[in-house]
Amino acid sequence: MKVYKFGGASVKDAEAVRNVATILKNMGGPDLLVVVSAMGKTTNSLERLAKAYSENSTEKYSLFSEIKSFHDGIIAELLPDTNVSAFDEIENLFIELECDLETPVESDFDQIYDQIVSYGELFSTKIVSAYLNAFGIKNRWMDARNFITTDSTFREGKVNWDTTQRLIEQKLSPIVRKQMVITQGFIAKSADNLTVTLGREGSDYSAAIFAFGLQAEEVCIWKDVAGVMNGDPKLFPDAIKLNALSYPRAIEMAFYGATVIHPKTIQPLQSKHIPLYVKSFVNPQQEGTCVGVAKEQEDQIPAYIVKGNQVLLSIRSRDFSFIVEEKLSRLFDLFARFQIKVNLMQNSAISFSVCINNDERKIPALLSQLSEEFNVKENEPVTLFTISNYQNQDFSHLLNGRKILVEQRTRTTLQWVLQG
Ligand code: ASP
Ligand code: MG
Repeated sequence: MKVYKFGGASVKDAEAVRNVATILKNMGGPDLLVVVSAMGKTTNSLERLAKAYSENSTEKYSLFSEIKSFHDGIIAELLPDTNVSAFDEIENLFIELECDLETPVESDFDQIYDQIVSYGELFSTKIVSAYLNAFGIKNRWMDARNFITTDSTFREGKVNWDTTQRLIEQKLSPIVRKQMVITQGFIAKSADNLTVTLGREGSDYSAAIFAFGLQAEEVCIWKDVAGVMNGDPKLFPDAIKLNALSYPRAIEMAFYGATVIHPKTIQPLQSKHIPLYVKSFVNPQQEGTCVGVAKEQEDQIPAYIVKGNQVLLSIRSRDFSFIVEEKLSRLFDLFARFQIKVNLMQNSAISFSVCINNDERKIPALLSQLSEEFNVKENEPVTLFTISNYQNQDFSHLLNGRKILVEQRTRTTLQWVLQG
């Protein structure tokens, strides 16, 4: 049993969906679960729609129409015969969303966000599944929310592994064995039956969760790049493709900000020794990258990882007392409460510096709490630059004149927080 994941770029227009069909025709069949993301940049558009709806702005009507006509355009190209029953199902989904937009705004924004943004994956999978069936690639559409269950942390659901594993094993596995199944990435359901998403770019994680539950023999993420590179080729022209990576190295790279794999993806796969392939949907025959076991030398190739859109907070206690145990524990309490991910930290006697994602929603709330007890200096925008497995050489040419605000070195990893 295998799990394939196709991201937004791989289904961004009719041409792209046809390419997915060709890959599945050549490499698909039963015993395959296909996880698909929302088409192109649909999730961004739906985010704007969720915001407009929650603010009761009439912009919601134009945003809805844009999203609908984008999908209608793709459907018209792929499925010109409107007699296909899936056609009505897709239409019904749009009506459902339109009705949701007419209901009074009652719940908090994160809950609203998940109920609206999740439509992207429903639209895309309905379209892909219908097209594949029309094209002779028999498959069954299934709702991922019937299998992946989470708590009610909207926008970042925490998976309920026991229930999820049981549902996948009992309800999904027997079906996949007989027939190719198309399902959604990114979306799940809480115990009270509300849709919960797994965090932006979470479809990779969905693929890993399904693979874990199905005891799959491999997962393949199909991307618009040749595999995992040791740096973004736009920033590092000498970047090379890594043929193999160990699980810990992949987790580390994803954590530092390599966007090619969602950070949560590796752990469930590692726990069941399921290899992960990252391959190009443009050149499906090419080898790509295999995450699992890597020869030691392969794992020691340096990687250059840039994580943008960061904020550096320098925190001091108001009375200039030392930032030690009690104060640190108070700070981490607040980071946990506001679900702040700490990307790098450094402390001195009276100050504590922390580099975090620039999250417009979480940071103001955190700052207002912090300011009750601490003086906080905020630096933004900053970039976190990591070189893993650095060799002792001079990297100053990579700075492009930017100022280093914080530097940290271990034996293997060099990290800079850079201004700008
Ligand atoms: N469609 C979601 C997003 O764009 C999930 C994903 O693509 O992985 O964030
Ligand atoms: Mg996406």
